[in-house]
Amino acid sequence: MKTVIYNGILVTMNREMAVYQNGYVAVEDGTIAAAGPAEELEAKYGRNFQEDKSLGIHWRDAGGGIIMPGMVNTHCHMSMIPFRGLGDDCKDRLRVFLLPMEEKAMDRELAVLAGRYGICELLLAGVTTVMDMYYYAGDLAGVMDEMGIRGIEGETVMDQPTCDAKTPREAVAAAAEAMERYRGHDRVSVCLSPHGTTTCSKELLRLCYDMDRDFNLPFTLHTAEMDYEMAHLRETLGLGAVEYLDHIGVLGKNTLAAHAIQVSPREIRLLAERGASVAHCIGSNTKAAKGVAPVKEMTEAGVAVGLGTDGPASGNTLDLFTQMRFCANFHKNTLRDRGAFPAKDIVSLATIGGARALGLEMVTGSLETGKAADIVVVETDSANMFPVYDPYAALVYSAQAANVRDVYVAGKCLVEDKKLVKADLREARQALEEKMLETEFAGYFPGR
Ligand SMILES: [Zn+2]
Repeated sequence: MKTVIYNGILVTMNREMAVYQNGYVAVEDGTIAAAGPAEELEAKYGRNFQEDKSLGIHWRDAGGGIIMPGMVNTHCHMSMIPFRGLGDDCKDRLRVFLLPMEEKAMDRELAVLAGRYGICELLLAGVTTVMDMYYYAGDLAGVMDEMGIRGIEGETVMDQPTCDAKTPREAVAAAAEAMERYRGHDRVSVCLSPHGTTTCSKELLRLCYDMDRDFNLPFTLHTAEMDYEMAHLRETLGLGAVEYLDHIGVLGKNTLAAHAIQVSPREIRLLAERGASVAHCIGSNTKAAKGVAPVKEMTEAGVAVGLGTDGPASGNTLDLFTQMRFCANFHKNTLRDRGAFPAKDIVSLATIGGARALGLEMVTGSLETGKAADIVVVETDSANMFPVYDPYAALVYSAQAANVRDVYVAGKCLVEDKKLVKADLREARQALEEKMLETEFAGYFPGR
């Protein structure tokens, strides 16, 4: 079945950054068969093409909205939904709330139910690809598969017992089985995601790096994010976090450094030379007062940078519209330059930049013939979306996740008219809430 989405401002994010004020995308067998100006449709099917039912084409009117590539969230912990809003302003939130609650309450069932809810949130916000990292990676990959999203689930490993493994070896073994199970899957894969540069031994980091590289999947970990991390590496080895990764031989084209806030100019050159990428989590970083990563210098050096929300405990939302806005505001402000980070570049980070950072630039991130049909329609009927002079500016400065109308992943419509097609948000929420009430989270629900 062929679907043609027409009557929208087409933002392709292709190499030429082509935009068509009245454009269309044709989808066939999950792939983009064509994308271009409406005149092409008229030339092929006649002036009243959308009325022609004889062709077996499903015509979908974008209603004058913006047709853009599905967005790519390069760093997420979607199963941490239950932690959203817990200890937001607490100085040592990690040790006071996150770690103890994870130990007491997190299990396979909670991770899966929260993951399912998280995917509902991602899809409704126009995120079609997610790089997630958490425990129970094999199970969460199953949820991604069932929900229809494109994703990579990273099994978090570290040198201490976690909620799903007593030892890192146990976590690696479980992940290895899941990596094999998803090998060759067209949308979902599993990789190993060590927690961070100082929470894993160099042997563990090397083991994960080698396995991820063999599967040609991202090797992603929290890097150059925490003050204690920087102090430890500086005091023990005299190195920055990126220098350390290079020093132990795990900085390569599969490496995706999450955060990369405290990096020196020399480390930016290293990232570029090794072909490593960065997941930029501006909302999470600035909320935690960790600083603003030098993204301008990174992109100028040729480092692939994508946007990430981080987990809902850190950034509170899984949508990239919020990140795009933060990105503009914080970078302009830090650089004291209103002209820095123009909207077009920010939409690029949220789409093709993210795809590049995940090694998926041949699959998704732009609307081009032959790529997977990962497409979002952003409506422009709402009060905040008029007028639209420049679609990039409208997407970055005006739009919100609530403006996402339709979402397609690999040609399958997963959100239609702002409603999930395959899943039910209310049901996902109810199941998650019931499970949370059986755990320590119950104590945090007011009035219960
Ligand atoms: Zn994180």
